[in-house]
Amino acid sequence: MFLTISTTGTPERPATDLGFLLHKHPDRAQAFSTSHGTAHVFYPEASAERCTAALLLEVDPVALVRRGKGRGGAPDAALAQYVNDRPYAASSLLSVALATVFKSALGGVCRALPERAGAPLPLRIEVPALPARGGAELVRKLFGPLGWERVEVTEVALDEQFPEWGASRYVRLVLEGELRLADALRQLYILLPVLDDAKHYWVAPDEVDKLLRAGEGWLADHPERPLITRRYLSHRWGLTRQADQALELVRLAESDDLDVDSVDNAVDESTDTEEKPVPLAEHRRTAILEALRGAGAHRVLDLGCGQGQLVQALLKDVRFTEIVGVDVSMRALTIASRRLKLDRMGERQAGRVTLQQGSLTYTDKRLKGYDAAVLSEVIEHLDLDRLPALEYAVFGSARPGTVLVTTPNVEYNVRWESLPAGHVRHGDHRFEWTRAEFREWTAKVAERHGYTVAHLPVGPDDPEVGPPTQLAVFTLTDTATDKNNEKKKEAEAA
Ligand code: SAH
Repeated sequence: MFLTISTTGTPERPATDLGFLLHKHPDRAQAFSTSHGTAHVFYPEASAERCTAALLLEVDPVALVRRGKGRGGAPDAALAQYVNDRPYAASSLLSVALATVFKSALGGVCRALPERAGAPLPLRIEVPALPARGGAELVRKLFGPLGWERVEVTEVALDEQFPEWGASRYVRLVLEGELRLADALRQLYILLPVLDDAKHYWVAPDEVDKLLRAGEGWLADHPERPLITRRYLSHRWGLTRQADQALELVRLAESDDLDVDSVDNAVDESTDTEEKPVPLAEHRRTAILEALRGAGAHRVLDLGCGQGQLVQALLKDVRFTEIVGVDVSMRALTIASRRLKLDRMGERQAGRVTLQQGSLTYTDKRLKGYDAAVLSEVIEHLDLDRLPALEYAVFGSARPGTVLVTTPNVEYNVRWESLPAGHVRHGDHRFEWTRAEFREWTAKVAERHGYTVAHLPVGPDDPEVGPPTQLAVFTLTDTATDKNNEKKKEAEAA
């Protein structure tokens, strides 16, 4: 197993600085013993113009087999344990060696040349035999979005003497571009085992932390993130979910999306009164407050509270004794907190309101036991395939007595003069539903979780295309409530 890292330089910034960055002197060949064999580091070339460091892992196949003992295995696999590609191909073992031998470089630490370590340098990385489950195409998809100028992937023939036998499952990978050394190493550290897709050591829960640390700055919004986390964590579902949740929070916190629904906040010109027309957002808050009062709710969740306008309105009515705003965006919550002047609020008022960060696609114990939950203009911000997760977290796990859901009615879009035909109202809307589509979803949700559902129009109800916003009011049925209480009692008794 073998890989090389090369850089070029000038007399002022010699390429041999690579030795400092890797913490390995270019003049010496060094050997390190790792848990799977011996790792050698040496420099096939080292001049001011060009410097190449090579990492070679000499795997001890017998040690590998011994380490794997006790985990069972078919007797006919006995020979395969000794005769396989482990010693030759870059894989998870090389990744472990990389992390062991270049630990400081991976962490971006270099006391001798800190500014060199922090800056991109011209790099060329070559892995001559990379096992690639998923083929050359996947290798390109994985390294393509990571800032390299050139990602060259060549299939390695099964046997060069017999080209008709076709390609093996190995590729030769060459990466060229200007990147920070630490970033390049971190990519390899994660992606080598992902391509190998067969980890050779036990995947412990701290692998999630390793993944998050090494993935910092590039993994959260990588288009292949689900595949990367799944494979890196050896398809262990619980760990994958944990990692995905953390990465999703990172991604959303990084994206500056504040959801200023421009069309939504625009004045509603179709009201033909002489007074100042009422913005649709205000229509919506009024409808929500009325529905909450009608349901007799006191303790209320505002899920996806955004910048806190509804929380502010709820605070003005003393019957709402406990108000919890939840959002995934830290930036939105900061703005909400400023809007509410949380830091200057009297103790009594402040005691009624909490803002917390969380993602609605994951169950959260803190959300259980409330009278009502509001999802105002939130569901359309989720990818459709994440909607069942939100459904379960809200209706299956948090299970408030009342749930209010609002979402745009796409049929009404033709009435917005400023909206080009076929466009959604906001760049981050993943979908917008017709009235029939929304009803189909609400009916299924109600049935699955023991709620009844009623629909109300919000804004002017157009005879042809309906209202601009649709509101669904879900109420937990008595039998479901009884069952809930029984479960609570059982839990208390146990
Ligand atoms: N409820 C507010 C804001 C709607 S905008 C209103 O009616 O004006 C949608 C909000 O949902 C955004 O603040 C966004 O950050 C939040 N959001 C999107 N996906 C989320 C998720 N998975 N978990 C929690 N909040 C989410």
